[in-house]
Amino acid sequence: YADSAMYQAKTEGRGNFQFYRHDMTRGIEQRLRLGASLRQALDRDEFELYYQPIVTLEAMRPRAAEALLRWHHPQLGLLGPDQFLPLAEEIGLATPLGHWVFGAACRAAAGWRAPDGAPLQLAINISPSQLRERALVDVITQALHAAGLPPQQLCLEITEHLMLDDTARNRDVLAALKGLGVKVSIDDFGTGYSSLSYLGRLRVDEMKIDRSLTEHVCADSEHAAIVRAAVAMAHSLQLGVVSEGVENAQQHALLRAIGCDYAQGYWYLPPSPDAAFQAWLAGVSATPAPAGDNGPAPS
Ligand code: C2E
Ligand code: MG
Ligand code: MG
Ligand code: MG
Repeated sequence: YADSAMYQAKTEGRGNFQFYRHDMTRGIEQRLRLGASLRQALDRDEFELYYQPIVTLEAMRPRAAEALLRWHHPQLGLLGPDQFLPLAEEIGLATPLGHWVFGAACRAAAGWRAPDGAPLQLAINISPSQLRERALVDVITQALHAAGLPPQQLCLEITEHLMLDDTARNRDVLAALKGLGVKVSIDDFGTGYSSLSYLGRLRVDEMKIDRSLTEHVCADSEHAAIVRAAVAMAHSLQLGVVSEGVENAQQHALLRAIGCDYAQGYWYLPPSPDAAFQAWLAGVSATPAPAGDNGPAPS
């Protein structure tokens, strides 16, 4: 745990003998403590969804927003999903937490006003345990209904790792989700190191190229070649392509030239609380679509 020393110091005070205990014992204690507070966090309303836009590379117009989970830990402050989702998964909290995400994200998305009146899609990440859950389709149906959001506006992001887990059960769930009318996107594409044959078998709508490929796309011609090939492959399968983790104008311009459809990254807007996201949305809506497309959107 990255902030272990800080956690220890804040909760027990320096000088406490526990501070000097063996690292492993300390790690276990902290996981137990973190797990205990994680169990109470939903009731205590400590979770918040941040939103990050996905824009068209052509005109930098918002087309979707991804919901990204944050935890306001009472002692540790704002935590990202990598700091608590694996533990939540282990102690069986990923499913109730996932239900909460669906409800909260659909409610928020129902209040968004997109530029040009075009509907803005909502992208939600699915955890491994949610995909195994029988009630998933019902949970999604209910969340959409309660918020008055059409299924076509929801896109579920499933990591390439989970897609590679090509079981009959996975295929059934994906078929049921498609039947509902929601879109499905392959998240973190390019990190699976594995067979591409699942792309032909599973009917998905979109591919998100992982940040690790975007990161070096300008500096390294091999990375550019891989991205170019991934875009060509996605297009030949009639999939839209999003590049994750765009952090500067050079990456934006190169990905646009390569023919990638959409992009997401700090350069457009970092993940932001709903109010800040909506303020950004109002800002781009008031700005005419740039012809030259040279500057970042206001943020
Ligand atoms: P992801 O789905 O691949 O989400 C994109 C991650 O990249 C986010 O990290 C986002 O903050 C980060 N990011 C976006 N643009 C940039 C950029 O320009 N540069 C850099 N360095 N990073 C960028 P975050 O929010 O920490 O989320 C991490 C992962 O946690 C997500 O990866 C997703 O797999 C998972 N996750 C987040 N929210 C949820 C949720 O509600 N449910 C589930 N099951 N998983 C979630
Ligand atoms: Mg995602
Ligand atoms: Mg991703
Ligand atoms: Mg990623």
